[in-house]
Formats: sequence, structure tokens, C-alpha cells
Amino acid sequence: MNSAEQYMENAENVLLHTYNRYQIVLEKGEGVYLYDINGKKYLDFAAGIAVQSLGYGHKAYNEALKGQIDLLCHTSNLFYNKPAAEAAQKLAKAAQMDRVFFTNSGTEAIEGAVKAARKYAYIKDGSTDHEIIAMQHSFHGRSMGALSVTGNVKYQEPFKPLIGGIRFAAFNDFDSVTAQITDKTCAILMETVQGEGGIYPAEKEFLKKIKAICEEKDILLILDEIQCGMGRCGSMFAWQDYGVKPDIMTCAKALGCGVPVGAFVMTQKVADQSLMPGDHGTTYGGNPLVCAAVSKVFDIYEQEHIPENVRTVGAYLEQRLGELVQSSSFVLERRGKGMMQGLALAEEKPAGDVVKQCLEAGLIVITAGGNVLRFVPPLVIKKEHVDEMMDILGECLK
Ligand SMILES: *Cc1c(COP(=O)(O)O)cnc(C)c1O
Repeated sequence: MNSAEQYMENAENVLLHTYNRYQIVLEKGEGVYLYDINGKKYLDFAAGIAVQSLGYGHKAYNEALKGQIDLLCHTSNLFYNKPAAEAAQKLAKAAQMDRVFFTNSGTEAIEGAVKAARKYAYIKDGSTDHEIIAMQHSFHGRSMGALSVTGNVKYQEPFKPLIGGIRFAAFNDFDSVTAQITDKTCAILMETVQGEGGIYPAEKEFLKKIKAICEEKDILLILDEIQCGMGRCGSMFAWQDYGVKPDIMTCAKALGCGVPVGAFVMTQKVADQSLMPGDHGTTYGGNPLVCAAVSKVFDIYEQEHIPENVRTVGAYLEQRLGELVQSSSFVLERRGKGMMQGLALAEEKPAGDVVKQCLEAGLIVITAGGNVLRFVPPLVIKKEHVDEMMDILGECLK
């Protein structure tokens, strides 16, 4: 038998060192708990970075996947398959939008959204120098295209030159966005709630004004709902709570609740005048296995009233975290919506150290940009789990 130390050493000997991993080898999950190979139990308030909305070992979800494995895992997109059509119907309905393209990740959903926006503008005027406005402190992924719209100099610098025609504006600062608009602007792209950048929700006024100027100038609004979507903020998609509908939306993370799948979704108006046969493709994207998962995820969300649980238990989480701002001198601010919450910590208390202490004490939380503790638990947590988390966190923040 291998010890945890041996597993970690073996991994470090062969995996490319792009992560400084926590010294834990996870083995199995049950409900909202994870277990490492030594049998130590962790309350999970990270959900594999906002992916495992249904927690672990959900029976109906697992059965659906097992059933599909025995039927068919992959076909290529040269043919139709049943789960893809079902999953697309359910996603389009939940998103109140019309056309779906399945990808293998969030990053690829961003790539597709950017291509759709450029093609839309190209069809309009035939020119090839269109611009996209993205936000500072945003995160959209690590491929060259997604990195190009990610407002983080540290991530971008070593990989330049990136794709051209990208301008950055300050999130929640409407004048800063309008200052970047030119006759070349084809899209404005942002997360409805910034995740990696430190948990910053868009302000309602800001988003409404952006939508208005997009409509006025026929600029496409692309909302990245990869982290904040799929019920995490209390509505199926966070923008639904703002009453601001995007032209294109990206989705991933909790879309498959554990299998790698993303999507970009658009209105019929954009679909009619953007990507056509031959413009875009993927071998794996939307294969029967992942789509069986997506399809089942939507069923379970409905049957188990997931967004409702986020609204009630999320409000409680928000209240309890808010109390820490009062009671702990290390906690400066609480930000977020529903079950996407952040605590900004004082400089003398690095969030990374708190995370390590929490892990030691059997609680999984993660960080976000700017010394922030991030809470993105499975959306099935109950009040008692919030209490359990708060007990551990309170101790670790002393
Ligand atoms: C995680 C994330 C991405 C990238 O998704 P991957 O599946 O890691 O490629 C893009 N945008 C946001 C907002 C994210 O949180």
C-alpha cells in the first residue's frame, strides 16, 4: 500500500508543476463531505471550484452516468445523439435563450463566444479589426483567446503576443467602459459576478446601463456565467436576477456537476448571423456521456429545488459570514451572492494560511484574488453545514 506521501511524490515526479497543491490525496466523496486516503473527513465548501453543485455520490446522477456508459460514450458531432438534444433543450429553456454549442470546458466556451461575436460583426460590415471590451480583474480561462480577455497582467505577460483588439475597462465603472467603446467594438464581455478576481458582483445599475448601450450600438453583451451560473447565486443564471439578458452566455463548471462540459448559448438573433457550418467545431464537445450528465443535472435541480435552497441557505451563509466582519478584526468585508461568497481579509492574515489551517481542521475552503477567502459549497448544503463550517472557520480566524 502506498502512503499519501508516496502518492504525492509520485505525482510530483511526473505531473507538470503548474499547481502548488495542498498536501492531501482525496479519495472519495459522500454528500457534502470528502475523504482523503487516510480516511480523514472534510466538509467541502469549495465543491471542486464551484463544480460539484449536487455534492458527491448523488444516486440519480450516478445512475444516469452509469447507464449512459453502457449505452454509448462518444459519437463525434458528425451524428446526432439523444442526450445532446435533451441537454441542449433543457439548457436553452433554463437560460431563456435559443441556441447551444457544447464545449469541453469553460475556456472553450469563452473561445466560442468570442468567435461568435467576431463573426457577427464580420457579417455586418466585412471588416476584420473588431474590438472586444473585457474587464479588469476578470478571469475567463488560460488558452490564448480566453487569456487575452482575462484582465490579469501576471497571467498574460509571459505569453504575449495575445489576440488583438481587446480593450480593458474597470468593472462596475460605466464611464470607464464607454471610454473604450469605438465603432469597432463588437462585444462587451464580463462575469456577472467576478469569481477568481475576488468575488465582486456586478452592480445592477452598471449592468443595466451596459445592456442599454449595447442595444443602442448593436454591440453584443457576453456574460460569463461559468462560475456564478447554474443556480449558484440564487437564480438559475445570475443575470436573471438583474433582469439583464445577454446576447451570448457562457456556462461550464456546475453544468455537468463533475464531468468536463461547458457551453456557449446565444439568442436566435446572434445565431442567425454568426457561426455557420464550418466555422467552429469540437471532437468531444457535447458527447453523449457528458450530455447525459447535463440532462440529469437539470432534472435534479428541478426536483430538488436547488435554486430555492441557494436562496434560503445562501441567505443564512451570508448572514453568518457577515457576523464575522463584526466579530473578527481580520475580516474586512463580505461580498457575493447566494452560495458564491468571499471574505476579504486584512493583510496580516493571508487567506492561504487560513485555508491551510481549515484543511487541518477538516474544512475545505479556497482563496480568490486579493487576499480573499472563497466559499462556493455544493448547492445542496443545509443550515447545519453552514454552522459546522462557521465553527471551524471561527477557530481558524482567531
Ligand atoms: C473557471 C472559469 C473559467 C474557465 O473554465 P475552465 O473550465 O477552467 O476552462 C472561465 N470563466 C470563469 C468565470 C471561471 O470561473
